Amino acid sequence: LDILPDPNLPEHLSAVIHQNETRYCSEIRLEGTPVRYFSAALSPMPSQPEISQEINLLQDAFENTGKLRGVMILTDETQARWAAERGVDFVANVSHELRTPLTSIQGFLETLNDNTISAEGKKSAMQIMQQQTTRMAHLIDDLLTLASLDETEQQALDSLIDFSAVVAQEVTALQEQAKDRPITLKLCTQKSVVLGNAIHLAQVVQNLLDNALKYGKANSEISVQLETLPVSALNTDQARLFDSTEVIRFSVTDQGEGIAEQHLPHLTTRFYRVDRNRSRESGGTGLGLAIVKHIVLNHRGALDITSAIGQGSTFTVTLPRIEFED
Ligand code: ADP
Repeated sequence: LDILPDPNLPEHLSAVIHQNETRYCSEIRLEGTPVRYFSAALSPMPSQPEISQEINLLQDAFENTGKLRGVMILTDETQARWAAERGVDFVANVSHELRTPLTSIQGFLETLNDNTISAEGKKSAMQIMQQQTTRMAHLIDDLLTLASLDETEQQALDSLIDFSAVVAQEVTALQEQAKDRPITLKLCTQKSVVLGNAIHLAQVVQNLLDNALKYGKANSEISVQLETLPVSALNTDQARLFDSTEVIRFSVTDQGEGIAEQHLPHLTTRFYRVDRNRSRESGGTGLGLAIVKHIVLNHRGALDITSAIGQGSTFTVTLPRIEFED
């Protein structure tokens, strides 16, 4: 009771010891940082126990201190509770993200029903409704991606992927889309083969390039680099993450406004945004970096983010390299 000062526990203990009852207590709170939660199952010892070795051992252990009256099994539920709460937050966030464009569409539909609306007003209402439905579709695509990543987490990575080909393909696609933005691409000459899923890896490259485009300044350069390195060239914290002898390092650098240091650890949290309005205006869902991090971890890699306010940001993905010669 000193350790677990739960107000209901004395009553449960008394019922077990004095009335021979079995009790279950679903929520015992242990203050501290973080607060921990336990469930407890309490049961009296039978007066004539079935003779089992464990019970005998327990009886022996208590010989000197008194009679064994009952057993309480405590289960630490902190982790499960945290996961459940996060699930609730997630549903609340998703609902909110869908509710905002939906409200806007509903509003414009009402406007369109009004016969006095000008042709110009009608055109602009249609345009906004189009943007909002695109936003909802992006959000649903990203949610489906996250759901499929949760499912594939345990799957073995068994396809050999040429990562430089993936990068080249995504950069070409981006160049089509952003003709006004100079993109410099430096690819290493060595083969960059990794074990993994080509569609997921392409999504990592696509999301990072997309962010560089969205958050970089107009007409500013985006620099994309791919290199191979021996693990010994990494700092010790990073090196211990890899059991390969070499890694590939892929980085995307933009010349945007940069990100303040206090935001960096949270950027990969689902729906976390530094500037909510800016993200929404540019069609962001707040899930892109969460997807990147999830895929990189599934590929036994690491994601690093460095940034300086006013200068830009660099997102770096490091993955174990497979030694492979044609
Ligand atoms: P979003 O869909 O909002 O872009 P992301 O998960 O891709 O969601 O990114 C989360 C947040 O991280 C963004 O809202 C933005 O505030 C910040 N961010 C991501 N990439 C960059 C970048 N290259 N430069 C500045 N901020 C960025």
